[in-house]
Amino acid sequence: MINTANSLLFEKDAKDIWKDCLSIIKENVPNITYNTWFLPIKPSEVSGTTLKVFVPNNFFIEWIEQHFNTLIKNTVSQVLGENGKLIYVILEETENVVETENNFPVEKKKTNITIPLLPKKDFDSCLITKYTFDNFIKGEGNQLARAAAYAVGDNPGQTSFNPLFIYGGVGLGKTHLIHAIGNKVLERAPEKRVIYLSSDAFTVEFVEAIQSNTVNNFSNFYKSMDALIIDDIQFLVGKEKTQDLFFHIFNTLHQSGKQIILSSDRPPKELKGLSDRLVSRFLWGLQTDIQPPDLETRIAILKNKSESYGIKLSRETLEYIAYNITSNIRELEGCLVKLLANASLTSRDLDFDLVKKTVREVSTNKQVNISIELITKIVCEYFEIEENKLREKNRRKEIVLARQIAMFLSKQLTKSSLKTIGLHFGGRDHSTVIHAHTTIEEAAKTDFKIQETLSSIKNTIELSVT
Ligand code: ADP
Ligand code: MG
Repeated sequence: MINTANSLLFEKDAKDIWKDCLSIIKENVPNITYNTWFLPIKPSEVSGTTLKVFVPNNFFIEWIEQHFNTLIKNTVSQVLGENGKLIYVILEETENVVETENNFPVEKKKTNITIPLLPKKDFDSCLITKYTFDNFIKGEGNQLARAAAYAVGDNPGQTSFNPLFIYGGVGLGKTHLIHAIGNKVLERAPEKRVIYLSSDAFTVEFVEAIQSNTVNNFSNFYKSMDALIIDDIQFLVGKEKTQDLFFHIFNTLHQSGKQIILSSDRPPKELKGLSDRLVSRFLWGLQTDIQPPDLETRIAILKNKSESYGIKLSRETLEYIAYNITSNIRELEGCLVKLLANASLTSRDLDFDLVKKTVREVSTNKQVNISIELITKIVCEYFEIEENKLREKNRRKEIVLARQIAMFLSKQLTKSSLKTIGLHFGGRDHSTVIHAHTTIEEAAKTDFKIQETLSSIKNTIELSVT
């Protein structure tokens, strides 16, 4: 007697059969597992009750057989009947057939003759393609970072810049640069597995993986990368479990010569709240910073951006904007976009008054941008002490006072949580921040010198952001 599954086979091609298999598998595994391990498998051909499928590499087969053997067997027999068989074909350059220990023989074939090309990626690299080296303007502040990034893009995993750790303030081009690396790697070798994500996204995915019991899949997915790019690694501070897992992924990748690229708002040693072993790994490769762009670079960036929008600004306009907006490149761009919007909304030409008005508008929005870093910098300048003294356990009277004032102002002028503020000042507890705040608040009621100090520092802060 012919069973139903078998009789249906005559009408179905490999694609349909694999689709049926997938729909069963999908019901039985978490989404992340399905996406990671099953979606990349593509149907090849069917003959009788044997289905051939393409898999990206041997690692896939091993993993699937270790973890989903029963599921696969059941699925295959449901779809192809009791005698159903699944053969994996690896896209590799050798031509031998390997029998695995279970019922599923594994065949290896030459890619260039019989096998059509696989769709290149089974996952999204999350790279922003417009962030390239071509449109990254060189300047004194980013020269070294750019050169290192370029070298890594050329030879991922093969330079001594592994990990490549790029740090610097907001809006200075870190994200742009690390995307450029990823884009370059793929441009040279499209088959490479490259992924970009922020450390926040990494944490969120990790938490989801814990909830759905798929931490292994999660970790193996990242271990399968040729280049792993993680942005804003400072957000791992205080997240110990995520750090642990990242540590293992880091080691696996590093040991197998895969490239790791990280960005951060501060150098590794200042990432208080990050485990020592992770910080020491970050020091293995190259750490390089990006400094705020000098005037010439700011003008060059503005010129380049405006031309890419299809407009030509006068030298006077370029200089005026670049003179007045100094802190970072994101703001320069913001100003340019606003200028264009203002011009087209009122259909005015880009006259100089409009330029001035726009620069003024952009500048007054800056108050909201006061950062703990800025406060720290200005407080330290005022007291003429080094910034790291505020993070250390130094109890000298003057340093304690400076630290407390910096914490007080951070609480008053930024939207940061007590925890974040504490972390910025050497990983101190939130209760220390509260204590600092009350102390300064009380002192300011009676102590004229403190009042004067506070108002002078606040003045400087305000001047530097308007
Ligand atoms: P960060 O990640 O350091 O905060 P981004 O990489 O997001 O900064 O940069 C902010 C904006 O400035 C982006 O739109 C980026 O393209 C642009 N930018 C930064 N540096 C440069 C540069 N050297 N040349 C051209 N554009 C730049
Ligand atoms: Mg960024």
